[in-house]
Amino acid sequence: MHSEKSDVVIVGAGVIGCGIAYQLAREGAKVTVIERSAIGAESSGAAAGILAPRLHATNPAILPLALWSESRFPTLVDGLQEESGLRLEYANCGALELAYDERSEERLREKIAFMTAAGQRADWLDAHETLHREPAVDPALRGALHDPGANQIHPLRFTQALAQAAARRGVHFQIGVEARSIERNGDRAAAVQTDSGAIQADHVVIAAGAWAGHWSETLGLPIPVVPARGQILTLSSVPTPVRSIVYGKGVYLLPRTDGTVVLGATYERVGFDRSLTPEGLGWLLVTGTQLCPALGQSRFEQAWTGLRPASGDDLPIVGRVPTWENVIVATGHYRDGIVLAPATAMAVTDLILRGESDLPIAPLHPARFTGIEVPRA
Ligand SMILES: Cc1cc2nc3c(=O)[nH]c(=O)nc-3n(C[C@H](O)[C@H](O)[C@H](O)COP(=O)(O)OP(=O)(O)OC[C@H]3O[C@@H](n4cnc5c(N)ncnc54)[C@H](O)[C@@H]3O)c2cc1C
Repeated sequence: MHSEKSDVVIVGAGVIGCGIAYQLAREGAKVTVIERSAIGAESSGAAAGILAPRLHATNPAILPLALWSESRFPTLVDGLQEESGLRLEYANCGALELAYDERSEERLREKIAFMTAAGQRADWLDAHETLHREPAVDPALRGALHDPGANQIHPLRFTQALAQAAARRGVHFQIGVEARSIERNGDRAAAVQTDSGAIQADHVVIAAGAWAGHWSETLGLPIPVVPARGQILTLSSVPTPVRSIVYGKGVYLLPRTDGTVVLGATYERVGFDRSLTPEGLGWLLVTGTQLCPALGQSRFEQAWTGLRPASGDDLPIVGRVPTWENVIVATGHYRDGIVLAPATAMAVTDLILRGESDLPIAPLHPARFTGIEVPRA
């Protein structure tokens, strides 16, 4: 058993915990990260790695944060690649969301209008233009939303690079250690109790992904986060691979820089069950092949699952816990944790080091699930 002291103790070494640790370390804080499994072992390592705010993070409560993140990625990736030596496979590939019926076309045209009003570029392509761009998709389409700015990144390596760069800046990672509870002193957290001792802390951040709800009782605050299982797979040797990220018929295709194609993903509420199922994989393969018939002749590489942290309203939960002066929750990033990680990292760093953040995180405040009035930041 040991006892140590940190400015900030972070529970969870997914992309959110590692992103916060990296940003805090850049600004000189002494940080300890507690992870019971491995860096990026859960949802962060299972993600596809799509960075497409205009298609994906379209809720007005998170779009500005996702766009802020998007603008930071080029510099962040350069720095992380240099500091960690890892190649993050960050690349611009653009994205298309295909419409196969009138209702989808209407919905996508509304999305384009919303994006245009928000000063973002998203275009409508007719069927001919879409097929010119992506000749391998089912041609019975009406058109597509085109987002030329969509990017991709290798999500596990991104998380590992954040952790390695943070470690180089002095962050202490306790791996294989489980955080159990928080020791309270008046209105403040004094230490995090783990299965291998206590770590005294000036600030505590719960970045425990789909497991953050387990802290509700300790914190005296509902953290309504549940796991949303995603089954996902990769294919290689696709005769006519897609060139952009393609969404259609309820699935997506992501052409990776190594020539493989990611086919994702299911959204299932089945608790903490990480199983791959014949039903899930079967649905993905059948639907993926309907979307892009050439996939039928490709080679199956591998499949895996991850548990997305899904909150009660599908929005992240980021902010200070009411009734605790120095505890922050950062979870619930659901389908967008990779793209939102830079903004969440900066917002949490702002709260800890500067007391408030200029980033628009008020809609994400943890108090929204209680009767307590939500503070401005
Ligand atoms: C199939 C799939 C595809 C996805 N695709 C994308 C995508 O393309 N783009 C995108 O932006 N997002 C995507 N996501 C979502 C993204 O992966 C998540 O939003 C993000 O990874 C959440 O990060 P996190 O750090 O909160 O959680 P996690 O990565 O789950 O990390 C939480 C960590 O906390 C640890 N932990 C929990 N409790 C404790 C404890 N008591 N003590 C110690 N450690 C603890 C866990 O072991 C875990 O490592 C996808 C997710 C899935 C499953």
